[in-house]
Amino acid sequence: MSTIVKSKAFVLNKLDFGDTSKIVNFYSNEFGRVAGIIKGARSSKSKIGKIVDVLNLVEIIFYKKDGRDIQVVTQADLISNYTNIKTDLDKLKYASSIIELVLKLTLEDDPHKRLFSGMEKILQRLDSEQTEPMLLFIMFYKFLLEEIGYGIEAGNCSKCNSKLSLSKEVLYNFELGFMCKSCGADHLINYKFSSELFYKIICLSQRNKNCSYNKNELENIISFFEKFLIYHVDEYNGLKSLQMF
Ligand SMILES: [Zn+2]
Repeated sequence: MSTIVKSKAFVLNKLDFGDTSKIVNFYSNEFGRVAGIIKGARSSKSKIGKIVDVLNLVEIIFYKKDGRDIQVVTQADLISNYTNIKTDLDKLKYASSIIELVLKLTLEDDPHKRLFSGMEKILQRLDSEQTEPMLLFIMFYKFLLEEIGYGIEAGNCSKCNSKLSLSKEVLYNFELGFMCKSCGADHLINYKFSSELFYKIICLSQRNKNCSYNKNELENIISFFEKFLIYHVDEYNGLKSLQMF
């Protein structure tokens, strides 16, 4: 049995199917990731085909049938098409990276409303604010890691629990977490943080608005998150969007 349902959803990607249709991956508020077919979407006259474009926030109506891999989408209305993001290469790079993270790290039919709303907020900010796009991306990346159960705890040494000094180099092991120098001597070290960079990680986790980040620090933090995720998630092999722009 199928029921007609409606949900706000982001368009994650789309590909041609047959002569006239498209298959689209959505990230929806109500149902998590959903794959849908839009019949006739490739016709130049198809209104729905134009609205359903990667990155757009839409409201979709589809016939939801449990156990079916691809749902039939019958209607889509545009909520936002993020014009400012699409006309700025730097913003587009990080918006595409956000979309790619959600595509790669969420499951079908696994609703996660906090993640949806976090995604909506960050894309809104990316579209309307002058804040460094790379920083907004990092804030989303960190939030996503927490939401999917891979929060990065910074503060105390994971072995001896002593408070990590902000004036010394801090060590990191992907299994154990952050470590002080003396505990680190007995373990494999995957990453070394300078005291400056560690301080910025603390800033991020405390959402400290008084911190500023230079480009190099932001790149280092992204590279750390990427290595962390590649280590922990089997099929994850890094973001293509970061290399594409
Ligand atoms: Zn220690």
